[in-house]
Amino acid sequence: MANASTKRIALLGFELESNRFAPVVGKTEFTGKLVLKGADMMADLATENPRSPGTLVGFTRTMDKTGSWTPVPIMVAGAGAAGAVEHAYYLEIKDEMLRRLEAEMPVDGVYFCEHGAAVTTEISDPDGDLFASVRALVGPDVPLVSTLDLHANISDKMVGSTDLLVAYRTNPHVDHFERGAEAARAMVELMAGLNTESAFIRLPLQAPQVTQLTAAGPYGEIIDIGQDRLDETILNVSICSGFTYGDTPENGMAFIVTTRGDKGRARCLCRELAEHAWAERHRFVPRLTSLDDCICRAVEVGDDVALSPILIADVADNPGGGGRGNTTWLLRGLHEAGAKDAVLGIFFDAALAAEAHALGVGETFGARFNRDEASTYSEPFEAEATVRTLSSGDLVGRPGGSVAGRTVALGPTAVLELGGVIVVVVSKRVQCFDSGFFETFGVDVKAARTVVVKSRGHFRAGFAHLFQPDQIIEADAPGLTSPNLANFTFAGYQRPIFPLDPETTWQPPGW
Ligand SMILES: [Zn+2]
Repeated sequence: MANASTKRIALLGFELESNRFAPVVGKTEFTGKLVLKGADMMADLATENPRSPGTLVGFTRTMDKTGSWTPVPIMVAGAGAAGAVEHAYYLEIKDEMLRRLEAEMPVDGVYFCEHGAAVTTEISDPDGDLFASVRALVGPDVPLVSTLDLHANISDKMVGSTDLLVAYRTNPHVDHFERGAEAARAMVELMAGLNTESAFIRLPLQAPQVTQLTAAGPYGEIIDIGQDRLDETILNVSICSGFTYGDTPENGMAFIVTTRGDKGRARCLCRELAEHAWAERHRFVPRLTSLDDCICRAVEVGDDVALSPILIADVADNPGGGGRGNTTWLLRGLHEAGAKDAVLGIFFDAALAAEAHALGVGETFGARFNRDEASTYSEPFEAEATVRTLSSGDLVGRPGGSVAGRTVALGPTAVLELGGVIVVVVSKRVQCFDSGFFETFGVDVKAARTVVVKSRGHFRAGFAHLFQPDQIIEADAPGLTSPNLANFTFAGYQRPIFPLDPETTWQPPGW
């Protein structure tokens, strides 16, 4: 039993990255992905490979190390990257969270593992709405801390309703646990009486996702500058790129500097970082490779083993950004061009996987891709294929990747051979995070001449042991997550915004 001095911290989270151009989601998608309440949340967190977000794992395990605390598990609901959530279902989640939290009051702190780029069918900032509602319930004096995805769209409401926002610093995201741990350490300080002061600037700069990588390039540089400035006063610097396909008024690269009580320093550093990024804005414009050139390169490396193998990222069909994971332009192109020793995955098509399972290993059949799919870009494609392997589709993320140590369920999975192209077909819509998404099913990635992944950037962590950055090509194919912003009609952004509007200007705030 907790003693009287034990701090009670409520645990909540709403994790959705909404692509406005992707199908709307609701209860089915959330319950199919992640809804954990009360004791079920604690039971999951106690397992070796939890389903809970890595930030929540990092937070709770770090709090355990600080000594005496009482977790008050309220509710975590997540649907990954998808479309907007039905507003009525969002309200249902919010009401349940508030009801459960109220029943547990009083609490000494509230921790959110939030994504930060959700939209509902009616509002563009449910994350801010949720924070503000919880703040209204617990009052102004209870510390409220949230971790955020680096792709969060930051609103004044989100900053104003919380004591601290802690965003990932890595893209590919590999610091979920560390940011959760950081939030825990800050929570301890806040509960001991720390008052934070923050500054927030959002630039009219919405970079396409492919130029938001952090290992190299302008985004990583600006994050590093911010981290170099942490000291006894600067508690946290979070720089969120915004989720391009959210298409909200809150889109734009956001700078949040949180200090231990020094508003002036928060503002100075925030402005300095924003000015730096704005001066570098032209470096955020992507360079993609045309579909035809991608196919040519694949044919070349297939024919000439003296050349280095290549990895083609189908960045426009990234399930991690709301893509369906089933566009066929690269598959069709490679197949028709007779590319050799190519592997492609993971392709989301439950009906095709089921058919392959019914047929069995070694069977050859006319594989009909996207027979049931009606989404834009998910075009049908048919080719003769042989079933190579079958699996129930469970794997654990390989070390170094974005889902390292976490259990991933892909549902019934089939490896199909279409001439020189091997395709991993899965039944759940997930991006290809690491080479294990092939190797687990017997596909030899090391021997492949061309590897095609349906992922925008997270694959880089999970394939770094096999591919150097100069072997990676980003394809300009059609899709729901195309970095070619001219392919979309954005209606929600505040305009002008760079690079969509090349002549956009910006003036720093006159604080
Ligand atoms: Zn993200």
